[in-house]
Amino acid sequence: MDTAMLIGSTFEKGTETEEQVLNPKTGETILAIPEASQAQIEKAVAAAEKAFATWSRTTPAQRSGYLLKIADRIEAEAKEFAALEALNCGKPINAVLNDEIPAIVDCYRFFAGAVRTLPGAVAGEYLPGFTSMIRRDPIGLVASIAPWNYPLMMMAWKLAPAIGGGNTVVFKPSEQTPLTALKLAKVLADVLPEGVVNVVLGRGESVGNALINHPKIGMISITGDVATGKKVLQAAAKTVKRTHLELGGKAPVIVFDDADVDAVVNGLRAFGYYNAGQDCTAACRVYAGKKVYDKLVADLSSAVSTIRFNKPDDTENEIGPLISKRQRDRVASFVERAAELKHIEITTGGKPGEGGGFFYQPTVVAGAKQEDEIVRREVFGPVVSVTRFSDVDEAVGWANDSDYGLASSVWTKDVSRAMATAARLQYGCTWINTHFMLCNEMPHGGVKQSGYGKDMSLYALEDYTAVRHVMVAHG
Ligand code: NAD
Repeated sequence: MDTAMLIGSTFEKGTETEEQVLNPKTGETILAIPEASQAQIEKAVAAAEKAFATWSRTTPAQRSGYLLKIADRIEAEAKEFAALEALNCGKPINAVLNDEIPAIVDCYRFFAGAVRTLPGAVAGEYLPGFTSMIRRDPIGLVASIAPWNYPLMMMAWKLAPAIGGGNTVVFKPSEQTPLTALKLAKVLADVLPEGVVNVVLGRGESVGNALINHPKIGMISITGDVATGKKVLQAAAKTVKRTHLELGGKAPVIVFDDADVDAVVNGLRAFGYYNAGQDCTAACRVYAGKKVYDKLVADLSSAVSTIRFNKPDDTENEIGPLISKRQRDRVASFVERAAELKHIEITTGGKPGEGGGFFYQPTVVAGAKQEDEIVRREVFGPVVSVTRFSDVDEAVGWANDSDYGLASSVWTKDVSRAMATAARLQYGCTWINTHFMLCNEMPHGGVKQSGYGKDMSLYALEDYTAVRHVMVAHG
């Protein structure tokens, strides 16, 4: 595979240290990719700056046309994109092909429409003799930095509103998952004018750090760890850059005694373990009512024990491995520490999978208490904890007692109780009798240390544009 980066209209290989890209299903190296040098990063920023002069003055209809072309190309090459993503992340091919690629294509198409219909305040005379109007203009150069859990989808969430809003971008994928970004770079070079999107490769502490500290970058958009978000904020402070932070999550799932237990179990089996739990909205922290608790733990454990993974025929797999040995060992150590506590029972799973890949068994941790590490820290693996609560105040209190604030869900047949509980939850999203369902029209983003700034929806377009007031004096 060609490992050259897109800088302006040319493809160049990095000239610095090589990073090994692994196949998480086997642990073997797929290929090694050298990272960008400081000079190459400078060239990418210069290309974005040059492109901004013309790109920022294109019409919404023109930018919409480009976004539609990107969507069409991804759709036409869906199988190739899906195969690369599955190889690099270890995801089951069907999950990428049937779930992720259609959502990615739709993301570009959504923003193609949204850029043409961005709503705004009316123009008018707010002082006698002066007409005021509000403009939404591009911010400038955006450094976009993506994580490894959904590489091509995070690229879509970042690129579509950024370039749709008239900005130009220097994009860096995770050093662990650059393959689909390299393939998309070829498409972007075919479709977009020179320099509108540049793709550079490398590690966070080198290439990422250079981007977030670059004086010409006007906005940093990053999806990653809370610790990384804090570093971005420190770097941004130096030149007062805008920041768009999508950080971690630890989604609470409140299950009332009157909930439909089968629906809860099916929901948790799917949404607690999708992508091997490497999802910041994963339904991983269950609070179950006193009466429903025992049945929920029993049925959930039995359902989770049937999740198919690590099968030689990939079409049978429901989930893949963790992204790396480091991540697998991290997940294992969380479960080991939890298992040492007397009140905890590992009712299914609890061990690494077999073979050289980075698999971990889908796991249920029952009897967890609010103060336990497994309830408080983001595990980012196929592990769901269940805690018993006695009343709604306790459930809501525990759900909100978290550094995170990305996603949550409430399960009950009582609509009033669902609405009253949702209103009290301090989360960017609350689902009722479901979890994890995203659509491009609706915003995704957190509160508290989960960060701020919305992906998807018109709110993302607002985040990637600056509100300006223009006033005309007419006597
Ligand atoms: P990470 O923070 O280690 O890396 C994310 C990206 O930031 C990578 O491209 C990395 O190279 C880069 N990076 C790391 N250090 C940097 C630095 N000092 N300067 C600039 N860039 C730097 O996170 P990860 O391990 O790739 O991803 C997993 C984390 O992301 C989890 O904590 C997860 O919850 C979070 N996540 C959040 C969302 C969301 O929407 N809120 C979505 C996906 C993942």
